[in-house]
Amino acid sequence: MKSPRNKPRVKPTSVVTGAAGFLGSHLTDLLLQRGHRVVGIDNLITGKVENIDHLAGCGEFRFIQQDVTEFLFLDGPVDYVWHFASPASPVDYAELPIQTLKVGSLGTHKALGLAKHKGARFLLASTSEVYGDPLVHPQTEDYWGNVNPIGPRGCYDEAKRFAEALAMAYHREHELETRIVRIFNTYGPRMRLNDGRVVPAFVSQALANKPLTVFGDGSQTRSFCYCSDLIDGIYRLMMSSFSEPVNIGNPRELTMTEFAREVIRATGSRSRIVFKPLPQDDPKQRRPNISRAKKLLDWEPVVGLSRGLKMTIRFFQKRAKRVGA
Ligand code: UDP
Repeated sequence: MKSPRNKPRVKPTSVVTGAAGFLGSHLTDLLLQRGHRVVGIDNLITGKVENIDHLAGCGEFRFIQQDVTEFLFLDGPVDYVWHFASPASPVDYAELPIQTLKVGSLGTHKALGLAKHKGARFLLASTSEVYGDPLVHPQTEDYWGNVNPIGPRGCYDEAKRFAEALAMAYHREHELETRIVRIFNTYGPRMRLNDGRVVPAFVSQALANKPLTVFGDGSQTRSFCYCSDLIDGIYRLMMSSFSEPVNIGNPRELTMTEFAREVIRATGSRSRIVFKPLPQDDPKQRRPNISRAKKLLDWEPVVGLSRGLKMTIRFFQKRAKRVGA
């Protein structure tokens, strides 16, 4: 394993953009557990302070409220830059299309610039959305994708595709150590109840005994990875020497109708299923081929759907109580 160009100090320093988000905050927790100092950056447009407020008073964590598309100035050494900032739910990025494009392009540029200036290693949180509505199934990293650049998902998909291209350009031209993870659907505690994604949508509907809103005919598929599995895979990728994209996700694939039934069973809900129109360009199928991660990182998910759902449901129950829902 190669180490970053900076000589490793006793405690490595990591910068996490999007640190108050769902995945950024779980990553921050893992890094602190593994002995990193962490500087978290977030402008809180989709991130939430409550995801990191348990870190108040932690001497190894510093939070900066800033938009990462603006110049990032940090004192002192940095060993790793983890670029996680971005709206990530289709509802969020449809509401914030320009900010989504800016954080994926200008924000990635600033984060890469910071890594270059500090001699740090850089990891881009990319996405299975780079495959668009995939014509290859399951998706392997060498598939180039089927993306509609001008559709409602274009702002996210193209921003992340640009971000990947920029990371590779910094790798090739500046010999920066870069890593690209393509994240497939991930779920777990700290997702926002109202972020529009299917897991919080179904779980909160089921807990309220309201109908579960399956879009389209419910035959479209997704594969859901529990957050701790995902973060473990991403940590391994950063510490590896592999600069090409790596899929991280759980290959167990379900239709959305099957998933709705699974949520109803796991919550013991009396909800029924109703069908709503399918959003434009909603991918028909998605499942990662994780051979590369298995081979290079010795990684595969270990948390099954029923255990992961149980932990997620417990979180949503607590949160619903707190907001008096
Ligand atoms: N979906 C659904 N009902 C909802 C929200 C989402 O049936 O209330 C479907 C959506 O159409 C998609 C899948 O669930 O096929 C996953 O959607 P999500 O927004 O979680 O993320 P995506 O994988 O599309 O980026």
